[in-house]
Amino acid sequence: MSSRSPLPCPTCGDPLSFEILDDERFLVAWSCVTCGLIRTTEPL
Ligand SMILES: [Zn+2]
Repeated sequence: MSSRSPLPCPTCGDPLSFEILDDERFLVAWSCVTCGLIRTTEPL
């Protein structure tokens, strides 16, 4: 049982992997290894 499930890719549905771009601003890049989708989010 995983404590934290990753976001699903909106295109292919595979779980996205994330990489922290800016630790101070909590800017995270989400990428899909299957279809190559890349999204960046900046949560509050
Ligand atoms: Zn995908």
